[in-house]
Amino acid sequence: MYYESESSIAETIERLENLGIPESNKAEMLWVYKGNIPVEDIYIEKIDENSETMDILKTLDLKSTEFKDRLFYSKDQELLKNMIDAQIRQDKKLMGMLYGYPECCVFRYSTLESPEEYNTNRLLTAIREGQRLPRFLRHYIPCPNCAGHENTPSEKLDDLLKRTLKHSSPKIYHSLIASSEDSLDCIYDAHGKLCGIITGDGIGLPSHKLESVVSDSNLMKFILSYKGSGPLTIRIKPYHA
Ligand SMILES: [Zn+2]
Repeated sequence: MYYESESSIAETIERLENLGIPESNKAEMLWVYKGNIPVEDIYIEKIDENSETMDILKTLDLKSTEFKDRLFYSKDQELLKNMIDAQIRQDKKLMGMLYGYPECCVFRYSTLESPEEYNTNRLLTAIREGQRLPRFLRHYIPCPNCAGHENTPSEKLDDLLKRTLKHSSPKIYHSLIASSEDSLDCIYDAHGKLCGIITGDGIGLPSHKLESVVSDSNLMKFILSYKGSGPLTIRIKPYHA
């Protein structure tokens, strides 16, 4: 254990803000550092070559371990070990808990035979019914009980994460909000046909509504160029000509 002064933490957050990794990964590091989320990961290919990312994790006193194509990190060595075990055993329940997802969503997810089909269906339902999916945490999909209802565990998680981030780094918060306005999840059916999108704000929009939403935009062309990708959720970065 060593003591980090306030000013060096502020400096570290400033370095994090200027790091060349996705804004969502920066936000996740702050959520783990602040204790909102037990364990997170980042794809190793996203980590910068001069290993500034590793240095920042160390300065925030976060432990890390590489597993397959990802670097997992946590404040707690024991939780990190549990996550690697869960990854090896493909224990979805433990994984979900360690990623900080609400219990109801984890339970629902971990009892499924085909989680990927479930995720696709969840997103399709959100699109068809125009549900809001509170998912500031990008790789998390709220369970049916959480979606479209007020005051659910997933709304609370969303609020907590937003509050923490806004307080810790207004800069990362605003770039994440700004980038999520432009970036979209595209949902395809089994034939590769675009069914609709989930907006950065978590609103499901069916494809017949799309033209009016992103009309006359390069974004639309970009979405359609992904059409052949099958039943996948794809995060699209804002596209600027
Ligand atoms: Zn839930």
